[in-house]
Amino acid sequence: MNGFMERGFWIFMSAFRIIVWGILGALLFFVFSTWQEILWGNRFSMAFLDVGQGDAILIKSPQGHQILIDGGPDTSIFSKLSSQIPFWNKTIDLVIATHSDKDHAEGIIELFPRYQINNILWSDSKENSGFAVMLRHAIEKEQEQGTAIFIAKDSQTIRWSSDPDAYGEIIWPSKEAKNTYGSSNELSLVLKFTYGEVSTLFTADIPQLVEYELVEKKSEVISASILKVGHHGAKTSNTEAFIAKVSPKVAIIQVGKENRYGHPHQEVLDRFAAWGVSVLRTDVNGDIVVTSTKTSFAVETQY
Ligand SMILES: [Zn+2]
Repeated sequence: MNGFMERGFWIFMSAFRIIVWGILGALLFFVFSTWQEILWGNRFSMAFLDVGQGDAILIKSPQGHQILIDGGPDTSIFSKLSSQIPFWNKTIDLVIATHSDKDHAEGIIELFPRYQINNILWSDSKENSGFAVMLRHAIEKEQEQGTAIFIAKDSQTIRWSSDPDAYGEIIWPSKEAKNTYGSSNELSLVLKFTYGEVSTLFTADIPQLVEYELVEKKSEVISASILKVGHHGAKTSNTEAFIAKVSPKVAIIQVGKENRYGHPHQEVLDRFAAWGVSVLRTDVNGDIVVTSTKTSFAVETQY
């Protein structure tokens, strides 16, 4: 009887300890999160994820919104997102599919069943390639489940708060371009995100032809502090005229180690060097995280 009582007491004590430690843990977590909020609040961040040969960028607004531009070529997006956001947070406020090529779209298709996606922005590609069809079906399925779908139009603005200094802009493709150009790279969405004086241009996989059009017709909006380098640093993109007009301080290349395309091309690296632009690349630097206030930005690499 005594033995039972004693055992019962210890069981009670263990439960008591678990509760106390649980409360202490929760308090510590709350204090830590609050301090983190105080230290990192009001910052805008962009994580250029090392997903191998492909693009995937997670943007976090100062208010905690999460925007994903492309999802990379496979399921590596899951572990990459887990390294940037808490495991219980499975909501992406906005997914932007720049175009339907596998190295940008497959990760998005994989993500849909596992995450709550509130909004999707894409170009409503009418392409018939395998991935374009798969992406379209996946987006239609999300729409049936209540996700809001937006078709990109140039000059549209993306806003996530009432802060007039924080917004995204759709720069390409123009309405005319949709009739003139046909390939998925040519019709890739070009976006610019601005937070105060810091801006970032995302060029997906646009080729030279589109760069020349942007230099000619959109020169007033393409200058940016940070450039997500076009088409993984291919020499069929990244013309001198374009680099000169964008005039970035930092260029970020999302590219796979020893990829079979030879990306990034040495000529492109030389062009950036000649313009005095610092280049960071996911195959060398791992995940590249840019954190910015409205007046300055810092770059951190997480290899
Ligand atoms: Zn690509």
